[in-house]
Amino acid sequence: MIRFEDLVARAQAYMPDSDIELLRRAYVFSALAHKGQVRQSGQPYLVHPLEVAYFLADLRLDPAAIIAGLLHDVVEDTLTTVDRIQELFGPEVAHLVEGVTKISAIPFSTSEERQAENFRKMLLAMVDDIRVVLVKLADRLHNMRTLAAMPDDRRQRIARETIDIYAPIANRLGMSRLKNELEDLAFHYLEPEAYEALKARVERRRKATEGLLDDLKRAMGAKLKEAQVPVAEIDGRSKRLYSIHLKLKRQKIDLEQVYDFLAIRIITPSVKDCYAALGIIHHSWPPIPGRIKDFLATPRPNGYQSLHTSVMTTKGVPVEVQIRTEEMHRQAEEGIASHWKYKEGRVGAANDERYFQWLRQTLEWQQEVRDPQEFIQNLKVDLYPDEVYTFTPKGQVKSLPRDATVVDFAYAIHTDVGHQCIGARVNGKMMPLRTRLKNGDIVEIVTNAKHRPSRDWLNHVITTRARNRIKGYLHAEEKERAVELGTKLLEKEARRFGVNVKALIEQKVLDGIAPEWGVPNGVDLLAALGYGRVGARQVLTKAVPAEQLTEKKESPVTTAVKRAFGLGGRSDSIKVSGADDMLVVRARCCNPIHGERIVGYITRGKGVSVHSAACPNVTNLLYDPERRIDVEWSTGAKQGQYTVRLTVEVEDRKGMLAAVSAKIAAVNTNILDIEARTDEDRRGWIRVTIEISDMKHLEKVMKSLRGIAGVVSVDRARAVPLDLSQTAQRPATGSR
Ligand code: MN
Repeated sequence: MIRFEDLVARAQAYMPDSDIELLRRAYVFSALAHKGQVRQSGQPYLVHPLEVAYFLADLRLDPAAIIAGLLHDVVEDTLTTVDRIQELFGPEVAHLVEGVTKISAIPFSTSEERQAENFRKMLLAMVDDIRVVLVKLADRLHNMRTLAAMPDDRRQRIARETIDIYAPIANRLGMSRLKNELEDLAFHYLEPEAYEALKARVERRRKATEGLLDDLKRAMGAKLKEAQVPVAEIDGRSKRLYSIHLKLKRQKIDLEQVYDFLAIRIITPSVKDCYAALGIIHHSWPPIPGRIKDFLATPRPNGYQSLHTSVMTTKGVPVEVQIRTEEMHRQAEEGIASHWKYKEGRVGAANDERYFQWLRQTLEWQQEVRDPQEFIQNLKVDLYPDEVYTFTPKGQVKSLPRDATVVDFAYAIHTDVGHQCIGARVNGKMMPLRTRLKNGDIVEIVTNAKHRPSRDWLNHVITTRARNRIKGYLHAEEKERAVELGTKLLEKEARRFGVNVKALIEQKVLDGIAPEWGVPNGVDLLAALGYGRVGARQVLTKAVPAEQLTEKKESPVTTAVKRAFGLGGRSDSIKVSGADDMLVVRARCCNPIHGERIVGYITRGKGVSVHSAACPNVTNLLYDPERRIDVEWSTGAKQGQYTVRLTVEVEDRKGMLAAVSAKIAAVNTNILDIEARTDEDRRGWIRVTIEISDMKHLEKVMKSLRGIAGVVSVDRARAVPLDLSQTAQRPATGSR
């Protein structure tokens, strides 16, 4: 059991006596506050804050942080107030204790929402003062070390929270020693059977290779000495259980195939010595191809720097070799904490960009992301980095998560580069947008100023940044379109009463009534109209005095013309899913018929145009999938009359035209036009335009035509030229 004098011994190594005196006061205060309290383990409560403070002193943190460690539970668990702490120990300590208390007070629940909230608060606390999180992590470590005393259900919850939240944060802050211990402890409690089984296997394998690491350490030391490469320390270790567990699971491999199961760590005085040592090692032990990683030149996002290689030993067992400087080693073990070291009575340079950039970005994202589930999802990607290192043509390193694509890379450079990217030259070769990048790829993004992101990019981007930027763009674009459509809908309705929509907008009438639908202004109201959440008639009723809303009858001629062109305004027979009030137009290219499979397409300013699902306009052209909208034939609606042209191929014999027209008449169908001709191959063609009420009707006609002797085929003609004006042509993505 640790005692206060152990803590003093630690702190004395780097602190003046005046600070030690402060620690002593804090210790006495904490002891009084927790007097009589006992931990689940039966130990006096005071042991816990003492252990936490000791861990912080081990990291050589400043007095304020260590005192906060001693006092971290007094506000939560005793009657002490933050004000009292401020009185006795000053605002800095009070602030830290308050921060830790706030994080601890978050009720833990497994729901994603709570988890997201938890993270959010941690992030805020970290940005506020990173020492708050260091104290909290130290607190969690000791709680994990003593978890055995807890009842089983609480053990599970605490272990789960540790592996989901605390270990990843420690990792992101570069504190690998702490992260490693947290993970192995949590693994032990979360999957006890898997833990024990793996432990036994690892133990067996370690036995089998016993002496190997020691021999290798000695041999490598000798070789380096011979070559006069200075070495501060050589150390051997086997990989930790949890990270083996993850590796076996992720790569579906066997323990024997884990190349870094055994590792030798070589610490040198300088960077130059690292590379020199690598050369000597490779000269004496054959390196395994593809295993050399230079994290010296391109550090991991969490700041980790080291050279990695795997070599084959004389016993045929691969061993990983890690080479780094002392400074890098400290950084690798302690991460951000190494920047908070107590130096000559002052705190060290704390604002290391590496960490704070990540913190700031994450905070920025969490403000953008409303859906907690999505936030957690995104955060997990960022917190469990499996990076690939890629380069700009100018040699700048961009580290991205594994499976990141060209689009992720583009957004990592700049939002506009992302929006406008149409492909990339990867290692000099033109590649499509969804290309997944590999380590060492040199990526040159190709942009087109007119190009815009599309929704399907969301299916292959990996990074939070790219995802959020694309979504942001799509939302803005979607809204713009909705406003456009909403305005049209309102104008259409208003025209019936001779009301001027422009005037309504200019006189801010819409702004005035918008709050009635819970939207802030007229533009948003128009958008709501476009999305179909609000009806045009409702808006008009609120916007215009009732006496002005007397309908002006449309002339019969106009109505007839509209019908003839399939422009019956809001088509009664077609329903747009989720938006009853949308302007629906049957596309003239395919003239879909009642009962046929149809798709809706949002046009610019013309409402929803409805095509037959088989229409080549929909299938062949570069229709934007984002503008598709579900439509269906409404049941019970009046069936209209549809003009359909059929092409009938017939054998060249007499009386075919008469036979065809007679058959059509026999199924009670009007013929609007009919013509026949024969081509060079002596095949006959009959084109007939008929009036059809629905799909069943059409099928009946076609079937009876096919029954005529001499008829080769009957097809529905789609001869109307493709209407390209509705299709915003976009540059093809990728290739060339
Ligand atoms: Mn505690």
